[in-house]
Amino acid sequence: MTRPVNLILLGPPGAGKGTQARMLEERFGLVQLSTGDLLRGAVAAATPAGLAAKAVMEAGELVSDEIVLAVLKERLAQPDVGKGVILDGFPRTEAQAEALDALMDETGGKIDCVISLEVEDDAMVARVSGRYTCAGCGEGYHDEFKQPATAGVCDQCQSTEFSRRADDNAETVRTRLEAYHTQTAPLISYYRGRGTLVGVPAMADIDQIAKDLGKVVSGLMRG
Ligand code: ADP
Ligand code: ADP
Ligand code: ZN
Repeated sequence: MTRPVNLILLGPPGAGKGTQARMLEERFGLVQLSTGDLLRGAVAAATPAGLAAKAVMEAGELVSDEIVLAVLKERLAQPDVGKGVILDGFPRTEAQAEALDALMDETGGKIDCVISLEVEDDAMVARVSGRYTCAGCGEGYHDEFKQPATAGVCDQCQSTEFSRRADDNAETVRTRLEAYHTQTAPLISYYRGRGTLVGVPAMADIDQIAKDLGKVVSGLMRG
């Protein structure tokens, strides 16, 4: 028997949260929930939240808890989240972690496991600077570390359109790494104190990390 599990993926920009979340989604039927993607959607749609978030995101700083919680709550109201979610990029502050606890109490949900992807900062600049995404299906690629089988064609959907994020440049990555260390990394001890933290080394190649994460998640699903 398996049961739905709710996970948090913690890690600095470039740690592989999005890449691994998509792979877990496919393998285990969980739903990836990326606050970065939700916020970029709000920016593209020019909603009030998006208009307020745009410049903050381009500077590599954190969007206010109020805006992030609003987009997250809207997403959590959709029925597919019952299959279990992978929170990617949330929570990012202790206040967000406390808000998430309150939300779980309200809805009777539970975070089963917090997975911290353990990486070295120095490698993150190259990972983020070389990142690009299929415009058709959102599959993530990298100039050097994850190229499509046929150059310029998405492996998943055969689209030939790709995009790069406005904030994926070396300078902004440094600001984002700093934001991670000052505001988000304290969550590692927050969750360790609750006994839900698992550290997974994440400097290896993508498939090796996926195997290691797969073991953690299948263990949780067996209960
Ligand atoms: P995050 O969501 O944590 O910011 P991503 O999953 O988007 O990180 O990964 C950042 C970039 O690094 C992407 O271009 C991705 O293809 C690449 N990448 C992800 N994991 C690895 C890895 N283990 N080794 C090398 N490159 C990776
Ligand atoms: P990465 O995985 O590369 O760090 P994300 O896509 O998770 O990037 O986030 C991109 C940007 O969106 C962040 O730099 C920040 O401005 C904003 N953002 C995303 N999630 C949050 C959050 N939980 N709280 C505050 N800001 C957020
Ligand atoms: Zn695609």
